[in-house]
Amino acid sequence: MARSIAIIGAGVSGLTGGVLFAERGFRTGIFAEQIGQQTTSGAAAALWFPYDAEPVDKVIRWALASYKVLVDLIKDPGSGVSMIELRQYCRAGEIQVPDWAHSLGASVMSSEVETSLTISPSCFSASFSISVPLMNTTIYLDYLADRFQKAGGSINDSGRFEKLEDVDSKFDLVINCAGIGARELAHDVVLTERVGFRPFRKSGVRLEPEKLRDGRTVIHNYGHGGSGFTLSWGCAGEVSDLATAAL
Ligand SMILES: Cc1cc2nc3c(=O)[nH]c(=O)nc-3n(C[C@H](O)[C@H](O)[C@H](O)COP(=O)(O)OP(=O)(O)OC[C@H]3O[C@@H](n4cnc5c(N)ncnc54)[C@H](O)[C@@H]3O)c2cc1C
Repeated sequence: MARSIAIIGAGVSGLTGGVLFAERGFRTGIFAEQIGQQTTSGAAAALWFPYDAEPVDKVIRWALASYKVLVDLIKDPGSGVSMIELRQYCRAGEIQVPDWAHSLGASVMSSEVETSLTISPSCFSASFSISVPLMNTTIYLDYLADRFQKAGGSINDSGRFEKLEDVDSKFDLVINCAGIGARELAHDVVLTERVGFRPFRKSGVRLEPEKLRDGRTVIHNYGHGGSGFTLSWGCAGEVSDLATAAL
């Protein structure tokens, strides 16, 4: 019999995880106080770019895994994903192009290219450009919800859970994708809102299993700061590996 999974949270983290679990044959229910557009995820832009999230080594690994999936989604016009050129500038000296950006074809922009730009940022000394996925969140969150439900998943407007053990005991495993809501739900007082609701955690994204008082396992997946979309598929993949091991 398929094992059943409850995901708390219907922002980008919960919906992406939901898609993975449901498409892998798990009976999956998403429970949330707010759904899709009403969440912090609905307020994002959202560009693929590793920004304001820790720890750097894991963040880059999760980001690159997500990049691959997102680039693939461009083929589906209903996904709301497209590519956009992103430019990063520095005011003095040479610009440091990160290794991961090289691997995605980042190129340092020459001064000839710069002067031909209509918006020529002459106060900058160097820049690089890179092509990255851009998610139209209005379309993309609906696309994820739709894909999740087509794979057999259910989305439930559950109201607010006071504790993780409140999830119906018929679910074998709980995934905590509560974003900033994890502050109360997982008693995580380092978790703070930074620059317009970004759920930032000083010690980094929390992606790990924990035992609940009722004996079930919860896998936490929150604290993505300014990179929730950028990390979404990489984190969901790791959550899925941990869930498979826990079940
Ligand atoms: C202005 C802005 C711009 C951004 N731009 C980008 C960008 O360009 N690229 C990028 O990658 N990231 C960006 N981010 C960051 C990104 O939006 C967040 O990291 C991401 O939305 C977090 O998603 P999440 O699913 O983890 O949490 P959320 O979207 O906050 O979802 C949390 C879910 O949990 C539910 N919940 C919480 N507590 C409870 C509870 N106790 N009981 C029941 N349900 C609960 C909520 O109702 C909600 O459904 C931006 C953020 C902001 C604010």
